[in-house]
Amino acid sequence: MMLSLKRINLCCSIKDASNTRVSYYANNVLGRLFKADSQYERALEHFIRALDSVSETDDALTLRRRGFLNFNIAQVHTELKNWPQAKALTKQLIADAIKYQHITVLPELYLLQGYIASSEKQFDIAISVNKKGLVAALENNDEYTALTFENNLGATYIELQDYAAAKRILLLALERAGRLKDEYSQQLITMNLGYIRVFEGEQSAGIEQIKASMSYFSQHATKAEFEPYYEWLAKAYAAAGMYQQQADTLLEQMTLREDIRSAGREARLNELQNRYNTKAQAQQITILEQENNLKAQLLENKQLQQKLTLLFVLLMLFAAMALLQLYRKVRRSNRKLYETNKQLAFQSQRDHLTGLYNRRALQEHMQLRSKQRCEQDANGNLTGLLLLDIDFFKRINDHYGHSAGDAVLIDISRRLQKTCRENDMVVRWGGEEILLVLENISPSLLDGFIQRILHVIAEPTVKFEQYDIHVTASGGFIHLPFSGIKEEHLDWEKVMQIVDMALYLSKANGRNQVCMIKGLTVSFEQAEALLYSDLTSAIQQGMLDVGTVHGPGGTVS
Ligand code: GH3
Ligand code: MG
Ligand code: MG
Repeated sequence: MMLSLKRINLCCSIKDASNTRVSYYANNVLGRLFKADSQYERALEHFIRALDSVSETDDALTLRRRGFLNFNIAQVHTELKNWPQAKALTKQLIADAIKYQHITVLPELYLLQGYIASSEKQFDIAISVNKKGLVAALENNDEYTALTFENNLGATYIELQDYAAAKRILLLALERAGRLKDEYSQQLITMNLGYIRVFEGEQSAGIEQIKASMSYFSQHATKAEFEPYYEWLAKAYAAAGMYQQQADTLLEQMTLREDIRSAGREARLNELQNRYNTKAQAQQITILEQENNLKAQLLENKQLQQKLTLLFVLLMLFAAMALLQLYRKVRRSNRKLYETNKQLAFQSQRDHLTGLYNRRALQEHMQLRSKQRCEQDANGNLTGLLLLDIDFFKRINDHYGHSAGDAVLIDISRRLQKTCRENDMVVRWGGEEILLVLENISPSLLDGFIQRILHVIAEPTVKFEQYDIHVTASGGFIHLPFSGIKEEHLDWEKVMQIVDMALYLSKANGRNQVCMIKGLTVSFEQAEALLYSDLTSAIQQGMLDVGTVHGPGGTVS
């Protein structure tokens, strides 16, 4: 896995690399890696690329590099059993090595060439090649390689059934192996010699020798290494006519092969399982970590949400409280404003001493009244205007003091308000003059009402400190509209002029009485001029219907 990943990365960079030397090294390394991993096709691909890169370089090492690469390529062809290519390339390499005197590489090349020849069952060629190899190895003082050549020569002679030659060379090899203390080679050679013994007639001794070596290999070599040796043992049994043993041996070999295969498969399976487990575990860990993170995040979110909710509730509570307070404040100030306005409205219409309506209120009332009358188109209801003036009020002030005068004004006002109906209006007209605006007063009850008014003024006496103050008033009375004359012609203010004169008539006639101007006996045009200027003359000329109501106790002076 690692390898293939590396390959992809490197391949990309190799393509981009303009530097041919880098390309050579990278492809060379990859080729060797794939070769070691038995991925020969890929190895070949990279070695050939490396070879292309080497061709573009031109230095002292070019030749050596090319030789090295071709050697690897030849080995790979061999593994792939591409015999013609392997053979041709090896041959070329050997020729080059000789030409350029690279004698150190010759033994290895001969080994390869020998192997190829043996594999192709060209044993004669194999013999000559191995001989050359042996010479080359010995020239290089490479005894180990020499030993390999000797052993290979022995094995090839056996294949050629030239047991004598085989024995000769194998004995030499055995001696060399002993010198080199190469036990493994010794056992291998001994086994070959045992095989030869079987074919030379010493069957059981030979077989025992083979078996002894096999037992050594079973302990010192891998199963894969010594598994092919069973074939030799089986052949030996066959040669000895021991067919049952031959069959058993072959069976044993098959079992071993199966062992190797299943061990390999098991290893691969284990590896796969391990890889899967590792991956699964890694995934599990990742999932767990993610789950943990998620949980932590959720918890944090929940806590944050709770905090936010709490904050929101608190905020709302504060806002509600603030709003309530504000609302209360506004309501309080509204009420205050309303009260103040009411008070102001009241005060602006009232006389501050007596609490009676003032002239402004009367003005407004009269304006409103005339408007309403216009709308109602004069339904015939009469309004009575009774103007009263306290008799000799100056004297009260002078005699009892100004406060007593005030007290009299207050008390009389209260009595008048009490006597009048709710719809009536009691107005402080001037200093000690009070006007009663009497709505819808019935003519039949008029005399009695005026009398009652004069009565409540006179009785009882007004109490002030230790004094009993006797009060009377004089007045004038008139209807509005007067004597059926439309108010456009004779409005309330003009009517007030007439009633004022009627009041003075009462004063002149002895006070404590009310002069009632009930109506005209002549046309308004006839009486008009005198009405405003000289009421007495108009009365004397009989233009008016007049009446008088007296207060209790008769006139005052
Ligand atoms: P008559 O019978 O002719 O009406 O005599 P009178 O004294 O009432 O007449 P006059 O109009 O000359 O006097 C009214 C007096 O009333 C004059 C003034 O000092 C007094 N007066 C007016 N307003 C007030 C007030 O608010 N309080 C007090 N104590 N006196 C007032
Ligand atoms: Mg007066
Ligand atoms: Mg007066």
